[in-house]
Amino acid sequence: MTEKILEVKDLEFSFDTYAGEVHAIRGVSFHINRSESLAIVGESGCGKSVTVQSIMRLVPSPPGRLKGGKIFYFGKDITNYSDRQMEKLRGKEMSMIFQDPMTSLNPTMRIGRQISEGIKKHEKISPDEARKRSINLLKEVGISDPERNIMRYPHMYSGGMRQRVMIAIALACNPKILFADEPTTSLDVTTQAQILEVMNHLKQEFEMAIVLITHNLGIVARFAERISVMYAGKIVETGKTNDIFYDPRHPYTWGLLNSVPAVGKKRTEKLPTIKGTPPDLFMPPKGCAFYDRCEYRMKVCKENDPPERMIGEGHYASCWLLDERAPGIKPYVVKRHAGESSGKGVM
Ligand code: SF4
Repeated sequence: MTEKILEVKDLEFSFDTYAGEVHAIRGVSFHINRSESLAIVGESGCGKSVTVQSIMRLVPSPPGRLKGGKIFYFGKDITNYSDRQMEKLRGKEMSMIFQDPMTSLNPTMRIGRQISEGIKKHEKISPDEARKRSINLLKEVGISDPERNIMRYPHMYSGGMRQRVMIAIALACNPKILFADEPTTSLDVTTQAQILEVMNHLKQEFEMAIVLITHNLGIVARFAERISVMYAGKIVETGKTNDIFYDPRHPYTWGLLNSVPAVGKKRTEKLPTIKGTPPDLFMPPKGCAFYDRCEYRMKVCKENDPPERMIGEGHYASCWLLDERAPGIKPYVVKRHAGESSGKGVM
């Protein structure tokens, strides 16, 4: 039976700045089950990182402000937990891997101490036990000779090794849910694949839920079981990985898929891009936020925010093209290879 670990309902989060209120998250809802991997994808600035940071209460307030919505952890409402209660959850129950391991690790502390710090904070454990656990964690994430490497400093590690250390730190207290914010961005393709393999292995071994934040759809295809596509502070489409790759229903998802480089594509072929820029979140539009960039836009889209519609089991999208009154448009084709059809469109 699937067990829901985290459920987020209508989350709204803003930043109060001198220039006004930035509506960063505008009603985000999603859930994740035990041993499941969910990817949240979208362009930079769409609110992916703020969503998870606001769940973990990592955004300073002010300027950050939770405006609305509910967060449930194992069915328990943690929305109004105090900072002290959240401190107990962070690290032990939910953990996070940040984008840049070089700036996230303390350059003046040995790796072993950085891993064992979290363990000692949450558990009554002797220094010797904490050291043994740290060595085991380094082994788990694939670092060779952990007894020696535990004594080293971050600058003595390669980029891939530092990211593995970040994973080890995040796993130190066996969290139930791991948020990975662009964990492979600064790594080469081979190391990216190794890190994803480590995360996949750990997910199965510890029955952990993993929320992966990324803009890289190639990574998502290999790693995630479900995908939520985010645009301008909202989730515009969500579904199983196959739904999103083979039966996408939102024009923004189409644009993202089309802009993925593919093996077999002619070198002379220009990679399509999504024209225009996301809307200003100081003044979010009244209707569909994708309106200015959407080649299928209709009159209704400008003034009315599209409601979320169910397409199939677990597959939802918010677009007026899904309305029965919308005009039919040509079947959509995701251009992975020249001439290859791997998706179908609306109507
Ligand atoms: Fe395009 Fe309209 Fe759908 Fe928005 S609601 S994505 S503007 S068709």
